[in-house]
Amino acid sequence: MDVIYFDNNATTNIAPEVLDEMFPYLKDLYGNPSSMHTFGGQLHKKVEEARAKVAKLIGAEPEEIIFTSCGTESDNTAIMSAVESVPHKKHIITSRVEHPAVLNFCKHLARKGYRVTYLSVNKQGQLNMDEFIKSIDEDTSVVSLMYANNESGVIFPITEIGEILKERKILFHTDAVQAVGKIPIDLKKLSIDMLALSGHKLHAPKGVGALYVRKGTRFHPYIIGGHQEHGRRAGTENVASIIALGKACELAGENLYKEMTYLKGMRDKLEAALLKSCPDARVNGDVSRRLPNTTNLSFEYVEGEAILLRLNEFGICASSGSACTSGSLEPSHVLRAMGVPATSIHGSIRFSLSRYNTEAEVDKVIEIMPPIIKELRQLSPYGRERL
Ligand code: PLP
Repeated sequence: MDVIYFDNNATTNIAPEVLDEMFPYLKDLYGNPSSMHTFGGQLHKKVEEARAKVAKLIGAEPEEIIFTSCGTESDNTAIMSAVESVPHKKHIITSRVEHPAVLNFCKHLARKGYRVTYLSVNKQGQLNMDEFIKSIDEDTSVVSLMYANNESGVIFPITEIGEILKERKILFHTDAVQAVGKIPIDLKKLSIDMLALSGHKLHAPKGVGALYVRKGTRFHPYIIGGHQEHGRRAGTENVASIIALGKACELAGENLYKEMTYLKGMRDKLEAALLKSCPDARVNGDVSRRLPNTTNLSFEYVEGEAILLRLNEFGICASSGSACTSGSLEPSHVLRAMGVPATSIHGSIRFSLSRYNTEAEVDKVIEIMPPIIKELRQLSPYGRERL
């Protein structure tokens, strides 16, 4: 059975061009870029080329990019560096809808004595900017707010947030793991001090990420050891994956606008068709400011997990809530923060598309979802009453 993969916010396939580019560095060209000999030393140039490609995608300078092992490491490093840079300040601002990579790190810092404000969001998943401004005080060292949400796809007003923080000279970190490669980001035009990204969300392998640190921003390494990454992140470079990340960023940049149109077209078709064919369905999140590839839908009177299992029988991969927290039946913290009723949270499904999805795949989901929902509602005591 062919897999129809609509779970690209959880992870993506490695693009064939990316795999071709990285493969020689897993096989024959296995040297260490820090070596004096040509065999290893030649890899240094490849790492620097990759750095330039990552920088180009987000409008940064190559020396502003630090390679890491993943988005989580980039997020942790950024926040830790920020609080260490301003040691006399003990207040951190974040939001309730962040990924655990930020949320749990802030909780960890709270246990160490930092004061953390978790900003609320409205029904659309958007920040209340008045609440945000009011939460800033003399003790605030860093604000960490995500660029785009992994579950709802909602995009935060990053430009505005950056301006507010620049004026107040407060460090701004954004978790852009879901945004990079999906929407245009130009750091030359944004007041962002640190930005996290992750390879496996944009068709590079798992286990590689990057952290952008704006020139002039004080930085404290999180992983300490050798001199790699100019002493900003120790550990022998994951050369093949770094090269892969560079290639993935290059591909994303080349096709960004075309892909955005393609993905939005398919996502909107899927969403509109399901809303029409399945009664008591709704979209979760601000439809006017959303990633082009994501739709989060709630189907009343059914369980999201039951829908996923039925979809799975057709080889269709989607997600209920965040894939990173799946395995637990805890209702999504993002949808809860948005005030989505418990019954709707339980019936929520996220479809997240990529350039490798086809219209035929979308049509397949459009065809099989209505009978699945109907059948599951017949099994549910609440659903039966509604039929
Ligand atoms: N931030 C967001 C918004 C994410 O969606 C994810 C992964 O799902 C991460 C951070 C963590 O990235 P990684 O899996 O590379 O550690």
